[in-house]
Amino acid sequence: MIQVSNLKKSFGQVDVLKKITFAVQKSEVVAVIGPSGSGKSTMLRSLVDLEHVDGGSVCVQGDYLVKDGTYANSKDIKKVTSKMGMVFQHFNLFPHLTVKENLELAPKYVKKEAAAEISRRSSELLEKVGLSAKADAYPANLSGGQKQRVAIARALMMRPDIILFDEPTSALDPELTGEVLQVMKQLAEEHMTMIVVTHEMGFAREVANKVMFMDNGEILESGTPEQLFTNPQFERTKAFLNRVL
Ligand code: ATP
Ligand code: MG
Repeated sequence: MIQVSNLKKSFGQVDVLKKITFAVQKSEVVAVIGPSGSGKSTMLRSLVDLEHVDGGSVCVQGDYLVKDGTYANSKDIKKVTSKMGMVFQHFNLFPHLTVKENLELAPKYVKKEAAAEISRRSSELLEKVGLSAKADAYPANLSGGQKQRVAIARALMMRPDIILFDEPTSALDPELTGEVLQVMKQLAEEHMTMIVVTHEMGFAREVANKVMFMDNGEILESGTPEQLFTNPQFERTKAFLNRVL
């Protein structure tokens, strides 16, 4: 479904991504773990064209965002990025819009669908994340967990083939992480393809099909949760797991 090869990116003198290569199959849940500054966010943001890479390829369902360092034209870039939804650590909701308006903004802007259909879907998705009662509330009046569930529903509005999560629970109080992880787990059970950068090792172990350990701009190792958590091959992986588990 998504193929990433030899992705390279530097900020000035710092090589933040060094030949990142991996593939994600349809319905796979891939957890990305690794220390702060290892390049996890940069990698994820590169996939949706929020960062410009210096080399390598990103191909989603046969369409290239960038091929051997050369970007597609803007129409094709849109085609690729529209297949992906992204959920950020800090929700990024529009504060001046209600929950329902937050969900409906992008689909209305794209204008391929009737307003009635968009409204029907936003109601359905709010129900899915347990927030039907908050449709007309503003983000400021929601808890962090509720905001993040709105952000997930908003990503789903565009019918993505894959959702990328960048530490979706890191900004939440511990008692609120469960409700967000529960929604993500439900998506996984519905066979949504997901890449999840996370510090939630329990989630990675329980829900992910594959875990990738990033360190210093590289994917040092990847495998099933079982392999990675119980039999890590590298000292750096072991040291990281000892710190977080
Ligand atoms: P964390 O777990 O703290 O979120 P991360 O693995 O997501 O870390 P990135 O945010 O991808 O790491 O950052 C990787 C490296 O790139 C870091 O050294 C960071 O300082 C650097 N970096 C990220 N964004 C920029 C930027 N816009 N300009 C310069 N350097 C940057
Ligand atoms: Mg990050």
